[in-house]
Order: sequence, then C-alpha cells, then structure tokens
Amino acid sequence: MPEKEIHVRGAREHNLQNIEVRIPRDTLAVITGISGSGKSSLAFDTIYAEGQRRFVESLSAYARQFLGLMEKPDVDSIDGLSPAVSIEQKTTHKNPRSTVGTVTEIYDYLRLLYARIGKPHCHSCGRPMLKQTIQEIVDTVLKYAEGTRLQVLSPIVRGRKGEYKELLRQVAKDGFVRARINGEIKDLDDSITLDRNRKHTIEIIVDRLVAGPGIKQRLTDSVQTAIKYAGGLVVIDVPGGKSELFSELMTCPECNISYGEASPRLFSFNTPYGACPGCDGLGHTMEIDPRLVVPDDGKSIAEGAIRAWGMPSGSYFSEIFSAVAKYAGTTLDTAWKAMTKKQQHAFLYGTGEEKLRIKWASDITGHKSETNRPFEGVVHNLQRRYKQSTSSAIREWIESFMTYQPCEACGGKRLNKEALSFTVGSMNIADLTRFNIRESMDFFGKLELNPNEKKISLQIFKEIKERLTFLLNVGVEYLTMNRAAGTL
Ligand SMILES: [Zn+2]
Ligand SMILES: [Zn+2]
Repeated sequence: MPEKEIHVRGAREHNLQNIEVRIPRDTLAVITGISGSGKSSLAFDTIYAEGQRRFVESLSAYARQFLGLMEKPDVDSIDGLSPAVSIEQKTTHKNPRSTVGTVTEIYDYLRLLYARIGKPHCHSCGRPMLKQTIQEIVDTVLKYAEGTRLQVLSPIVRGRKGEYKELLRQVAKDGFVRARINGEIKDLDDSITLDRNRKHTIEIIVDRLVAGPGIKQRLTDSVQTAIKYAGGLVVIDVPGGKSELFSELMTCPECNISYGEASPRLFSFNTPYGACPGCDGLGHTMEIDPRLVVPDDGKSIAEGAIRAWGMPSGSYFSEIFSAVAKYAGTTLDTAWKAMTKKQQHAFLYGTGEEKLRIKWASDITGHKSETNRPFEGVVHNLQRRYKQSTSSAIREWIESFMTYQPCEACGGKRLNKEALSFTVGSMNIADLTRFNIRESMDFFGKLELNPNEKKISLQIFKEIKERLTFLLNVGVEYLTMNRAAGTL
C-alpha cells in the first residue's frame, strides 16, 4: 500500500525539542516559522539527511565507496520516507557577459566551429573572401588547357597612390626584370616615374610558363615567390585572356581588405580580438540621458533644473551658466521647458567652437580669475568625467544620469565586423545564437557540409549536439543561446 504521509518521531537535531510531525506525501509542503525555530533542522538536517542516507544505501557497494558513510540524524524514527536527493537553486552567474551559450560551453564549440569551417566575407562589400593554400592554387592552374601561355604575377601594389621609387628599385635589385604597371608591361631597369597623386597597380612578372605536364614544380616555386612578395596574393594571367587573383590569406578581391588567421578567440565577445569596439562586447552602451540630467523641466536653472550641476550657487559655476545663458539668448530664471531646443542644446552640449569669457572670484580666497574658452556642455562634461574618473563613487554617481542604449556599431551583436562576417550555413555566429535550443537542434540537423568540412567538424558537432540534447531533455528548449545568464 502506498504511503500517505511522512511520519517523524522524536526529532532532536540541533534545537528541535523531541518533536513529532506528520507531513502529507506527494504534495507541496511548506515549513514556516520564525527565524531559529528549527525549520532547516527539520527539513534538511533530519528529513532530507535521512532520505539521502537511504538513497546512498540504495546504491551499489561500488558507488557507495565514493560517497562515504552518512551519519544517521538524531531522530527516533521516520516512516514513509523515500530515498531523496536535494536540488539547490544556484545563481552564480552575475557576470553580465555570461549567456546560456557560454555557461553551457556550447558557445565555446560554436567558436571553434566558426574558426574551422566558417566562410569569411568582406565586411565592407559582402563578397566571399578568397583563401587557398599554395597547393590548391597550383592544382587550379594545372587544370588550364595544355598549351595555354600564362604568367605568374605578384601584385605588390593594388590601386594605391604613391611614387613607389624605392619599391621598384628594390624589386629590380632582387633580380626581377619586368613588371606590369597599370596594365602595361615595363622593364624594371627603365626609369619609371609614377604620379604620386594617382592610384597605381604594380604586378611583378615572376614567371612565364606554358601549361602542360611537367610544370608543377616550377609553377609551385613561382607561386610561392609571388605570394611572398605580395603578402599572400598571386595573379595567374593568361595574356589576352582571363586573369585570376588567388590569396593565401583571407582577402577581398575588390576592397583590399585582409583578415588574419581565424581562431576561436575572434568569435569571443570577451576578448579584444572579437569584441565590438563600440561597446567592448557588451552589446549596449551607457549614455548620458538628457531626461535624467534635467528631470523636472518646470524648473529654471536658477532653481536647479540641471540636477547634475545642482544650484549654480558657486561663483564659478554661476558665472559659466550666466555666460551660456547670455550666449544662448535666455536667462537663468527661465523655466527649462520655456527655452528653445537650441538654448537647451547650448547648456547640454556646449557652445562648440564659440569661446566664452568668464570672470569669477574664488569663494574661499576671493582671488579673481578669468578664462576664455568654449563651454563643453553638461552632457559632454559628464561623459568626459565618466571616462577619466578613477573614483568608483563618481562613476556610480554619473551612471545615475545614464541609460542603456543598444550599441550602434554592432546592433547588440557584441562582435566586431570581421567576426560577424563569417558564416556557417549562411548564418553568422551572433544570428545563430538567437535561436532557441530546439531551433539550434533543427539548424544543425539540416546543415549541409562538404565532405572535408564534415571531417573537420565531426567532433565539434558531437559535443554541440550532446549539450543541446541534454538541454532539450531538461525541458528548456525555449531558451536562446544569447540569453543573459543573469536573467535565468
Ligand atoms: Zn570587399
Ligand atoms: Zn557593439
């Protein structure tokens, strides 16, 4: 017959006074009482302690040896109790940078995945970046039709202004004979004069070959030389035909933008390599909010409308405000809301280039001083002091005038442009983390990869799927990867 209640007799743990209690089973029971009355002593040190002891005893001898012996609580008897485990609520993730993805380690594997098989795109024009090994470049060229005349070029300057006298001299000194300059073949021992204000393209002619069997070694050497001179680039040109640009680095063929090696840290918003420079990887910025600087627009400045600066009673501050009021064509007794936008702007954001002559006397010494400089504005003043101050009290005080704004540079995606330009299954890593657990599972289920990518990422997928499956089984499929851990 199933037990209906837990019956505790003679509980004397800590300050419990030999009590007897009956608790209904399979219900939600709450133990209440004043502090020190023995709630925890009854719930944890007596009932749970005994339940856990029974749980451990239900395990095999092998498992028990790792857990050690449990003390029997000070109680005469407990009936109707099942083996028990206790689950404690833990909220250890106060760090604003932690997300569901980072605390489950799934994001670590995503970073690895993007570093290994992510497809880079130019962050300026969106074109796929070129990246091939020397071997791959050679293999492509070996497929050219037999008998095709081709030249290996090293593009050392691509559409940049300058005279390049020294560079050309050095190239000739290194033994190269010809270069293609702005599309024209030139001998390098001729004196070449380039207009320093024009954009030029200079490609050294490294080698000339005829496609066919037996050129592989020479082609490899030449491609290697070309790449060395042009910092990762080589052009294979068929005179009168096509001209192909290859890159050993990740390079945009149009914009002259190159990326370094992609490593997992590039996709981390917690490192300077990956974090958006606009928000340091937080996804939002703290900005001075004029509505908090002037919380009551019915007041005039003389009445303390500008909360951050209070009543301009000190001689210096009152002189500044008087000068700004004069500059803006208003008075310190005008209510804030009665001022024009332009007048308010002068107080909040300053006078720009316009200098104000301010004379004041020190409140303490009576010493007279004079300055003549632009007024920076209350908002700019607070911003500047927030950046400069090393006092946490001052920074906290200034934060009381700030509100969170989504970062304009990354739109809240927390990563820099380069990191966001890599895609797997045409998704960048930030967009992928907007998926919830269920959607992430579907995404990886449907992802199409070529055999090489599959091979490289097999283990990574295994780790990701294991963790996603665990979260699905726990029943939190609605959580998104980018959810801040602190909100759970
Ligand atoms: Zn581009
Ligand atoms: Zn940002």
